Amino acid sequence: MFGCRPWKDADCGVGWRAFTLVSRELLERAVEAHGHLGPFLVLGLRMGLLAERLLGGRVQACEVEVVGRRPLLCAVDGIRAVVGDEVSVVGGGGISATFHGAEGRKITVKVRGSVIERYARVAWEECEERAREVLGEREENILLVVGNPKHGSRWPGDSPELGVS
Ligand SMILES: [Zn+2]
Repeated sequence: MFGCRPWKDADCGVGWRAFTLVSRELLERAVEAHGHLGPFLVLGLRMGLLAERLLGGRVQACEVEVVGRRPLLCAVDGIRAVVGDEVSVVGGGGISATFHGAEGRKITVKVRGSVIERYARVAWEECEERAREVLGEREENILLVVGNPKHGSRWPGDSPELGVS
C-alpha cells in the first residue's frame, strides 16, 4: 500500500540517533486503525514515540489538547497507536500532549505551529506523500518538548540536537 519505504529515509540522515524511527509494523497498524495515512497521523506517532523514549518506558496516561477537527484530530489516533487506550482528548489550540510515565514523571510534546500550518490544508491526494515527509523529518524540526525529566524542567525547542542517549 505504500509506494516507497519512508522509514528508510530516516536512516540516511545525519543524527539518526536523535530519531525514534516509526517502524513499518507500527505504521501499518496505525493506518489500519485510523483508516488512512496522513501527516497528522504520523505526527501523533512521532509524539508518542518521542515521549516513550524520553520517559524511558511505557506511557501510563496521556492528555491531548487539540483543535477538534480533522486533519489535526488525526494526530490522536497516532498517539493511541503508540500509547494505547489511556488517552484523553480536550479541545485546545494546536496539538499538544502531556505524557505520564513511571514515578510521576511527565513531559509535554507539542507540534510546532509552522508544521501545523504546513500540513493543515494538504489536499487529500497528497496526504500519503506528505506523511512520508513527516516520517523522514528530524524530531527537533517538527516537535517541541517541555519538561524533559532527564534534562531539567525546560528544554529549549530550538536545540540543534535532542541530545538523548
Ligand atoms: Zn486522518
